[in-house]
Amino acid sequence: MVDCDVLICGLGPVGQLLALLLGDRGVSTIAIDRNHEPYTLPRAAVIDDEVLRILQSVGLDEAVLADAQVQPGASIVTADGRAVEVFRSRVGRLGHPPLVSINQPSMERTLLGALEDRPTVELRWGTALDVLDRRADHVDAYVRPVDGGPAEKLTARWLVGCDGGTSAVRARLEIPFEGRTAPQRWIVVDALVDRPLAKVPHPHFIGDRARPAVTLPMSPGRHRWEWMLHPGESPAPFLTPESVRERIAPWLDGQTADIERAVVYTFHTRTAARWRRGRVLLAGDAAHLTPPFAGQGFSSGARDAMNLGWKLAEVLAGAPASLLDTYEQERRPHVTAMQRLANTMGAFVQATKPRTVRARDLLLKTIDGTRVQELFASNIKPLPTYGAGAFAVAPGRRAGRRSVGALFPQTDRLDDRLPAGWAAVAIDDVARELLEDAGITVVEPGPDREWLDEHEATWALLRPDRFVFACGRAADVGPALSAWRRTAAPVREGVAA
Ligand SMILES: Cc1cc2nc3c(=O)[nH]c(=O)nc-3n(C[C@H](O)[C@H](O)[C@H](O)COP(=O)(O)OP(=O)(O)OC[C@H]3O[C@@H](n4cnc5c(N)ncnc54)[C@H](O)[C@@H]3O)c2cc1C
Repeated sequence: MVDCDVLICGLGPVGQLLALLLGDRGVSTIAIDRNHEPYTLPRAAVIDDEVLRILQSVGLDEAVLADAQVQPGASIVTADGRAVEVFRSRVGRLGHPPLVSINQPSMERTLLGALEDRPTVELRWGTALDVLDRRADHVDAYVRPVDGGPAEKLTARWLVGCDGGTSAVRARLEIPFEGRTAPQRWIVVDALVDRPLAKVPHPHFIGDRARPAVTLPMSPGRHRWEWMLHPGESPAPFLTPESVRERIAPWLDGQTADIERAVVYTFHTRTAARWRRGRVLLAGDAAHLTPPFAGQGFSSGARDAMNLGWKLAEVLAGAPASLLDTYEQERRPHVTAMQRLANTMGAFVQATKPRTVRARDLLLKTIDGTRVQELFASNIKPLPTYGAGAFAVAPGRRAGRRSVGALFPQTDRLDDRLPAGWAAVAIDDVARELLEDAGITVVEPGPDREWLDEHEATWALLRPDRFVFACGRAADVGPALSAWRRTAAPVREGVAA
């Protein structure tokens, strides 16, 4: 007898999102957290359009946006004070703004509130994971109430460690957490402000040679500053209320700011050596840590939850368990790319050597106002694609040209018109009929017909996470459906799972 199909260890935002996605598929889920309540202080500052699309899939994009600020872009400020735009935020093919400031506790409240409406999900706060016992067809987890009391055995078919950077699950599996920890630490100051700061209309990376800094508007009424400590420098003098007030004063122009907290953070670039051992998987910070310079820590974890959620649901409904191997196969290269992006941004901001600073500023000033800047600022984070994984055929080698393996666009909220689970778009009656006969719902692509035209396709079969499983002309539907039957759970009552 199992207690649940999936046991989630850790109710940070990634565990919450995974619980929501599993709840939407009717998967019986227990999620535990050693804390009595969600972490109440802000961490993640921004999320992107992919995360908003994932939130849309659980019906929460608008609720999260209600306490968020859409950012028009991001700039690096040269050592002599010139702000050069390096990221331009336009609503593109994912249908959401690509740079949005949030307040993580507020977003988590929204996610947790929604979990109350998922009857197959049970949350247990104040419950820590102690011991893991992996068996061939289930996992026994020994958990205990943190306030005392006897340990309890929870038996699950699958267990997912969403328990953060110091993951107990990862430790129990003896999986190395490979990578590096940056020598310089950062002071992070969060404040409540009565109105947006005129001097910081959007995120600014301050390339001050003596003291690199980052400052950005958070959710409405909040602002953040971050200052780099040099390797070996003591944080204590920076953390006194007087020192914090003095440091933020030049940004305020006389307006008031209530300091919520000032803390020291160490940034890591680390990835677990493997993300699955038998029936136990890792997701979010437990699987990978990324410095915050590109705002991709939680965003990467949200993509993990989306990728893993549907695969677990399919396997529980009868798909081959090997589908779960494609989780790391798809996600790892993408996480590595986001870590690289974050570290490139970090190197730009954290430069202190005079020659490096001069070279950086020369480069920024040279591109400022040119077509190169326009191209760079609009394409710094290209649309995601996967080079290998759960697809009908191997995706093309060139990421930018991929059809199969690409995240299908939803320029005009296409996802709202698609059923949960597998679905297809088609502009070709023959293909439509073949797909529908297989139990797949097919819809008109609307403006995203353009994508089909670009890829010389008349239909696309979309995975539950909206990546393109297969696409082509009517003659290609048959082989695609054969591949789909080998990958997905058997169709129940004529409806694709
Ligand atoms: C300064 C800073 C700025 C950041 N900025 C951004 C940003 O702009 N954008 C972005 O996307 N990300 C950002 N991040 C990263 C983001 O906050 C994290 O990636 C995100 O919180 C990770 O979520 P998670 O659910 O994986 O882990 P966590 O939020 O760490 O949650 C893990 C949970 O597991 C629980 N747990 C741990 N051990 C056990 C156990 N043994 N038993 C039971 N429960 C356990 C913990 O109590 C915790 O609730 C930033 C982080 C920092 C520190």
